Amino acid sequence: MSFALEIRNQVDLKGLNTMAVDATARQFADIESAGQLKQALEAARAQQLETLVLGSGSNLIFAGDFDGLVLHMSLRGRSWEQVQDNAAVLVLAAGENWHDAVLYAARSGYRGIENLALIPGTAGAAPVQNIGAYGVELCDTLQSVTALDCDSMAVITLAAEDCQFAYRDSLFKRNPGRYIILEIRLRLSRSAPLKLDYRDLQDYLSDCDAAELTALNVAEAVMAVRRRKLPDPETLPNTGSFFKNPVISQLQFDDLQKKFPEMVFYPMADGVKLAAAWLIDQAGWKGFRNSRVGIHNRQALVLVNHSGGSGEDVLALAEDVRGSVKEKFGVELEIEPGVVGTC
Ligand SMILES: Cc1cc2nc3c(=O)[nH]c(=O)nc-3n(C[C@H](O)[C@H](O)[C@H](O)COP(=O)(O)OP(=O)(O)OC[C@H]3O[C@@H](n4cnc5c(N)ncnc54)[C@H](O)[C@@H]3O)c2cc1C
Repeated sequence: MSFALEIRNQVDLKGLNTMAVDATARQFADIESAGQLKQALEAARAQQLETLVLGSGSNLIFAGDFDGLVLHMSLRGRSWEQVQDNAAVLVLAAGENWHDAVLYAARSGYRGIENLALIPGTAGAAPVQNIGAYGVELCDTLQSVTALDCDSMAVITLAAEDCQFAYRDSLFKRNPGRYIILEIRLRLSRSAPLKLDYRDLQDYLSDCDAAELTALNVAEAVMAVRRRKLPDPETLPNTGSFFKNPVISQLQFDDLQKKFPEMVFYPMADGVKLAAAWLIDQAGWKGFRNSRVGIHNRQALVLVNHSGGSGEDVLALAEDVRGSVKEKFGVELEIEPGVVGTC
């Protein structure tokens, strides 16, 4: 680790976003400590530059260049705390790779995050949208978040209850730029029940004796199922699910269901959640492609960059998809990744 902060000019971000769109940062710094983060923020403030916190760029779309200072979160380190008979707290620095941490925990015999295997990105970004998959969300095991509060410039620790976690949402997402996450703590257990409610997981593990299954078995099953369904950004650039599943009122749902009885939905406490992938598929988009970008042919929720598409190309396609879903079903789709920079 180097202690001196280095700020570079005109840095290419194409390799730092999984949609692989061209974009340049006016300034860029790898952040390896809280001290460097404070220095970088002071440098940006002195020049009145905007800042962007960047992990692995797997949930961001660069609409164009970023005319500010990118803070690339590269803090490293993982350790165990409060180790008891069956439970322990896993501490992850913000720049740790999330998937590697999942495998590390599972190989150490701890349960709780195995269903979140193969989600790209950093540990520090995981609380931002409360990552979730296969019936598990980060907030199920998150104990606390240590962050720099950019208003007071103090390092604070927030308990999970204070992070306002909801479906793909959190305090951090609702207050962009206010908190920069330095470290997270996860409460894991050797004896917690494995979560195997998802049909795909049950099918994959159907030959196994459930009582013998380990966290690592489940992580491997999740990886196999995900690899079958989702394109690997290394070979076909994408940002995973591009749209959130929309939640509509019971009244609107009752109306829609009369017209589309086969519609895929999940009842919720505050309305009905629709499967955005089903809506997009029914609007005829699955497998669509133009010369640069398209919709994946096995998963209608995933926009892909086939051949040198720009952020503008990706967002134009997303707008077309939103427009046709709105026209056919009267439902608004919301984009999941953050949009950064100007076209
Ligand atoms: C193929 C694929 C599959 C995916 N599958 C899933 C899935 O199953 N479930 C799911 O929930 N998500 C999924 N995602 C989305 C993505 O992986 C997650 O949102 C991930 O947590 C983003 O991490 P990142 O480091 O790439 O964040 P980035 O894309 O770099 O940043 C995302 C946001 O977090 C902010 N941020 C990043 N680091 C910090 C920090 N340390 N402190 C404060 N703010 C920060 C950024 O400013 C930005 O607003 C998938 C993405 C891809 C490409």
